[in-house]
Amino acid sequence: MKFDIITIFPEIFDSFKNEALIARAQKKKIISINTHFLRDYTDDAHKSVDDRPYGGGPGMLLKVEPIFKAVSELKKKGGKSKVILFSPRGKKLDQKMVKKLSKAGRLILICGRYEGVDERVADHIADEVISIGDFVLSGGEVPAMVLTEAVSRMIPGVVGKEESAQKMDHAQYTRPEIFEAGSKKWKVPKVLLSGDHKKIEEWRKKHTK
Ligand code: SAH
Repeated sequence: MKFDIITIFPEIFDSFKNEALIARAQKKKIISINTHFLRDYTDDAHKSVDDRPYGGGPGMLLKVEPIFKAVSELKKKGGKSKVILFSPRGKKLDQKMVKKLSKAGRLILICGRYEGVDERVADHIADEVISIGDFVLSGGEVPAMVLTEAVSRMIPGVVGKEESAQKMDHAQYTRPEIFEAGSKKWKVPKVLLSGDHKKIEEWRKKHTK
């Protein structure tokens, strides 16, 4: 699985790419994550990636030309790919979408900034416009990390035990059996200590997201 991330802040991804499961999966060549600096795809001397919105209004928008150039050049180099734009107005990301995206082979992710992106990117360049939730962030970089991590977990071999990647999350406890602090006593549910696997499975099902 390949991730090509187009951004004006590539450094944001440095530690993300080089830690934990994501770093190991890249070493094993199961996934690859490449960031692409949007300013490298400009033609003017000032390397400008943003401009004022038509019709007025505060702030700046990312321009369509550099994004078009970046996506076209990336498409030429690699194989088949799906192009995703991040926007708070996009389709809300869930595990079902994550699973589907993990079959794409290659994702080109476009990170917006400032007041957003010229709408022609959503209309003509992106295959999908995705939001990671009903709130507004300052850029698409955090959403790109969210999507990259969630999709990577679906690729066989990325998560140690296959099982833990496929299942949704259920409530879990580890030692101590009773946590005490002052008058507080927080106990682990008895059923989990019972050794009764059928009952444990039932309890987990009830406490699964
Ligand atoms: N004025 C814009 C907000 C732009 S936020 C509007 O309300 O439509 C700047 C960029 O951050 C966006 O272009 C997008 O790429 C990213 N972004 C912000 N919130 C997001 C969210 N919830 N999901 C995905 N991307 C988001």
